[in-house]
Amino acid sequence: HPALSAQDPEIAALIGAEEQLQADTLRMIASENYVSAAVLEATGTVLTNKYSEGYPGKRYYEGQQNIDPIETLAIDRAKALFGAAHANVQPYSGAPANLAIYLAFLQPGETVLGMSLPMGGHLTHGWGVSATGKWFRGVQYGVRKETGRIDMDEVRDLALAERPKLIFCGGTAVPRTIDFAAFAEIAHEVGAVLAADVAHIAGLIAAGVHPSPIPHADVVSTTTHKTLRGPRGAMLMAKEEHAKAVDRAVFPGLQGGPHNHTTAAIAVALKEAATEDFRAYAQQVVTNAKALGEELAARGFELVSGGTDNHLLLMDVTSKGIAGKPAAQALDRAGIVVNYNTVPFDPRKPFDPSGLRIGTPSLTSRGLRASEMATVAGWIDRVVEAARDQDEDTIAKVRSEVKALMDGFPAPGLPVA
Ligand code: PLP
Repeated sequence: HPALSAQDPEIAALIGAEEQLQADTLRMIASENYVSAAVLEATGTVLTNKYSEGYPGKRYYEGQQNIDPIETLAIDRAKALFGAAHANVQPYSGAPANLAIYLAFLQPGETVLGMSLPMGGHLTHGWGVSATGKWFRGVQYGVRKETGRIDMDEVRDLALAERPKLIFCGGTAVPRTIDFAAFAEIAHEVGAVLAADVAHIAGLIAAGVHPSPIPHADVVSTTTHKTLRGPRGAMLMAKEEHAKAVDRAVFPGLQGGPHNHTTAAIAVALKEAATEDFRAYAQQVVTNAKALGEELAARGFELVSGGTDNHLLLMDVTSKGIAGKPAAQALDRAGIVVNYNTVPFDPRKPFDPSGLRIGTPSLTSRGLRASEMATVAGWIDRVVEAARDQDEDTIAKVRSEVKALMDGFPAPGLPVA
């Protein structure tokens, strides 16, 4: 980054260090990925200089000769990839996209039914500390204790009792397939709008390795930077009858000018996601997660719901004699980056919970396959037990083993060290 290094060596050095960190470590945060060099290039362009409030053909600023076709390409690619009637590619990120759904369909104080945060839902599905739980009445469902899976009977009972105007399905720590058709049936029964938040699984849906919500949901929200492997951003897709309401909620309801550099990078990512290569990638993400789950279970880790259908695993590590946070911190010292997480019915506090959430989207982007998952599970096991036994030598040894393996799998978009 020659210009940056000359102008601001402090920031340039930190970005350089981050590039090294992303190259050397095994990144297993389920919501992260490595974008392609093409997506990265599109993000860092002069499109950031341009104001474009409005939508293609209906702007409040002149000079949209290049911006309109960029946004139109992004919209058309989103519609084609997901089979959606309408797409809006302007939401700044997943949380504002979800807030736009409330603005489109609810009045303040009306009821939303969503999955609770500690059970695997997202803050924006009506959790109390979120604006969505403060300005609307949040009613929350969870998973069954015996199965770790969403309790559709509970969802239906709550919907009948509470009569929500909006039902959210999808989540942030849900290792199993979401039954969109079952949610739609309940939403129809009570006259609610169904929103599917597929932020985590959008790439899997695009590739056909997870069922699509498009035939079932009134509105679908997704981030673009997780399994979809695009820039940080979000999209809303909707049935044609909701197109106007959704567009008006995003702009002028909630946002100002769209981030055109992000829009261009979303368009690039959507083009990539329509390829055979991407379909193979998404399939491999799931294959890797299943293989990793089996290897971890064989080493005595307790997996919520017993395994996974998608890209993530949620596991209780207290059976190993340690809590989630110190386990996550020890893994970070070993170059394996995960997040600590509550598990359903967690007796511990959210800042010091029982579990870890781990995902395979990033390591699959680097080319790791099922055959490497035994090695990865072995490292996780050694580090968690070493953390419990305060054995920093083992943690340091794993760090060098991780780096040695990752050196053989160059990261997309990163300069080769
Ligand atoms: N929805 C779900 C299911 C998520 O997992 C997330 C992010 O973790 C979001 C929404 C929010 O996205 P963002 O962090 O881009 O605002």
